[in-house]
Amino acid sequence: MTARRTVTILGATGSVGRSTLDLIERDPEGFEVLALTANRDAQGLADAALRVGARRAVIADDAAFPELRERLGDSSVEIACGREAVLAAAAAGAEWTMAAIVGTAGLGPTMAAIEQGGTVALANKEALVSAGEIMMETARTSGATLLPVDSEHNAIFQCLEQADFRSVRRIILTASGGPFRQMSRAEMGGMTPAQAVAHPNWKMGAKISVDSATLMNKGLELIEAYHLFPLGADGFDIVIHPQSVVHSMVEYHDGSVLAQLGAPDMRIPIAFTLAWPQRMETPCQRLDLVKVGTLTFEAPDFERFPALGLARAALLAGGAKPAVLNAANEVAVAAFLAGRIGFLDIASIAASSLEGYDPAAPASIDEVLDIDRQARSAAETIAIRYSH
Ligand code: NDP
Repeated sequence: MTARRTVTILGATGSVGRSTLDLIERDPEGFEVLALTANRDAQGLADAALRVGARRAVIADDAAFPELRERLGDSSVEIACGREAVLAAAAAGAEWTMAAIVGTAGLGPTMAAIEQGGTVALANKEALVSAGEIMMETARTSGATLLPVDSEHNAIFQCLEQADFRSVRRIILTASGGPFRQMSRAEMGGMTPAQAVAHPNWKMGAKISVDSATLMNKGLELIEAYHLFPLGADGFDIVIHPQSVVHSMVEYHDGSVLAQLGAPDMRIPIAFTLAWPQRMETPCQRLDLVKVGTLTFEAPDFERFPALGLARAALLAGGAKPAVLNAANEVAVAAFLAGRIGFLDIASIAASSLEGYDPAAPASIDEVLDIDRQARSAAETIAIRYSH
């Protein structure tokens, strides 16, 4: 009998966390859950911990702890709260960790998992955008295996397996184009949070759904790809592909282009990281190309979607710029979701933040977090000017 693999899910109550739990619950003999973490959703965390028999359940927000205690106090699940407890859960030495906390809040826990040297399935793209060099260097030092969860990067990883980078000409990231793909700027200006999170193909958390509508998500993914795949900043193209069937492509020097295809269901890339280097069964819908019928591709429109250009500029500038962009975007998306600013203001706030704040390149995670704090505060001030 093979030993059960120990796993931890950071961000277990979110969209990626729940998809991960769904796969793990289907194979109770395969996985032993060391820890599950959440921010405030005590009920979701407690239910999941009981379902998978987790050893530990950790809630980041102290205010949600009484509810967690009420729900799990009589069970065998250890409970804890606070940011330090989330870090401790991340550092508890699971063989496989899902890093699926949204935003820079995930940076510390993701780094703690990477420092342990196990396998880290990386969904938390904001952490990699803000601290890419430091994170990749830490993984090299600790020997951690980073497996990309984002469907595009997961697709690239699959198309690259065992390839020599010298034989790769370019990487083509696909983007659905989001819910506002065909709208004018004037129409986009009137879009509400509910319309922005209604993604045509994927069911995701609110923040990444808004990022998909502005195309900032693709911009962040460009920076993410730059860190994961050593091709240089010019080695990546973006193509709009509204059907979300081709998840990304790798072009080799001989003219071959390899693509990974599949139904738009995050359980497919997550399963790839869970089973790697093997494959596992999933309950996902099988791809029926005849039913899909037509696959289309378009060039991205940098004028209607300025977030894409901002991300490319931040990547080329390097240093602290990607961290500033990411922090400003998080602030602006939160302000949009709270109904304080309009949809088009998100990219404007990110642009003003990039212009107005230019710190030196960070040399440590503490410095990244410091830049993140300062950039957030500057972006909050800018957001007030846009508030209605
Ligand atoms: P969700 O908003 O659905 O979930 C976020 C998770 O993080 C929840 O468990 C939440 O807890 C937890 N969390 C939020 N803030 C904190 C905090 N301050 N401290 C500790 N935990 C926190 O996000 P998604 O699952 O959509 O996305 C997660 C990450 O994966 C993001 O970085 C996203 O870009 C990336 N990703 C997501 C995809 C998707 O399909 N959803 C696809 C590709 C990448 P609580 O529920 O208690 O608030």
